[in-house]
Amino acid sequence: MTVLENYDAIAKCNKCGFCHVACPIFRSTGHESGVARGRLAMLRGIIEKRIEWNEELEDPLFTCLGCEACTTNCFGAVPTAELVLAARGEYYDKVGKKPAHRLLFEHLLPYPKRLHLAARAAAYGKNSGASKLANALGLLRIFGRDLPKAEGIVDKLPTSSFRGTLKPGTYPGKGEKLKIGYFVGCGIDVIQIEAGKATFAALQERGKSVTVINNCCCGLPPYSYGDIENAKKLAKKNLETFEGLDVDVIVTDCASCAAFLKKYPKVFKDDPYYERAKRCLPKVRDVVEFLYADQPVGATGQAPVGTYHDPHGAAATAQKVSSDKKVIVTYHDPCHAVRGQKIRNEPREILKKIPGVEYKEMAEADWCCGGAGSYALTHYELSQKVLDRKMDNVKKTNADLLVTSCPGCMIQLAFGIKRHGLKTRVVHISEMINYMETKK
Ligand code: SF4
Ligand code: SF4
Repeated sequence: MTVLENYDAIAKCNKCGFCHVACPIFRSTGHESGVARGRLAMLRGIIEKRIEWNEELEDPLFTCLGCEACTTNCFGAVPTAELVLAARGEYYDKVGKKPAHRLLFEHLLPYPKRLHLAARAAAYGKNSGASKLANALGLLRIFGRDLPKAEGIVDKLPTSSFRGTLKPGTYPGKGEKLKIGYFVGCGIDVIQIEAGKATFAALQERGKSVTVINNCCCGLPPYSYGDIENAKKLAKKNLETFEGLDVDVIVTDCASCAAFLKKYPKVFKDDPYYERAKRCLPKVRDVVEFLYADQPVGATGQAPVGTYHDPHGAAATAQKVSSDKKVIVTYHDPCHAVRGQKIRNEPREILKKIPGVEYKEMAEADWCCGGAGSYALTHYELSQKVLDRKMDNVKKTNADLLVTSCPGCMIQLAFGIKRHGLKTRVVHISEMINYMETKK
């Protein structure tokens, strides 16, 4: 879709400026080019040929987090994130695509085995200190101007993927009827492995069987760069995989994957795959809505320990959550859950029911954390400014645990906690569910 084709939607902006207060980027920079009104004015300028396609458009187009907060604050509900994203595709066509994107979108994400191999190589680099050396030598600059600065976001990486230890296939569960498919997102598969294990255990509790799906990336990363062609390739592969599964429901513990899987029919509008995408849609569930619908829970005997980003160590956390003292818990809404899927009350209700938990709502819980996929790698400084605001709000809750349901948010939040020297620990909501089951 070209910018011109979106003219009517772009022209709906009446320049009222109500979006300013909600935009994390505008609140961090104060620049009109970073808010919905400014971005839409720029797109209109391109259509009306007052602005030409050139590299100067990169910043206004690519600094948008895609968080959709502007749309919820806009009377006309102008879908700025979608419009900007469509324009990114045209930007790449007219100005050129980066080689790093081709490598990632065309040669790694469609193939889980290659992705695992690349993740293992990255883990070796990280854990041995080689990536610090590469940084010092300036080699990371090849992948983008901000990657050297972002090198420290993750301290260490797991040496084995989730599906390297739990191979795709069908496993027996303790439930009676439900056949569950577990869609393993890339972030869970190669980084937040403990969250994946907790989800798998929770699904086994509930399902007659759990199938760890041999899916590839959901397609959101290329989609959010406006690369619709590669997003469709990934989505098609997944739809074909889904059609071969004997499952009643497809659950994922990544809010971004869930939101994008639910978007497949829209992605395939005017495409022969549209009907197939529509047929699969009713089976897709975010793990939060799945677990919420399934309360109360059984017993797995597994505590929420061992999450990869644990600043204090798993043992300390186990002690904390199993002590008699109330544990202060707060929740961060991933953009793709709260606005992408309208999931807001469910996680809070789950958390409030956990024995020993004192739930404290944080201010601006639904504000983007600044992670936004690879945003922290491509726009490090801006992403950290957005994160600082989130950390100030976390600090005010004095929370022991900061819970969320997106592996990307987990990485970003854990980095913020480390940078701000907080005692808070980040966990996935599946890990909390397992904790609740342990206490029963
Ligand atoms: S709130 Fe909506 S209509 Fe108003 S300036 Fe922002 S995008 Fe335009
Ligand atoms: S999607 Fe988010 S970052 Fe982008 S303009 Fe809207 S509020 Fe700002």
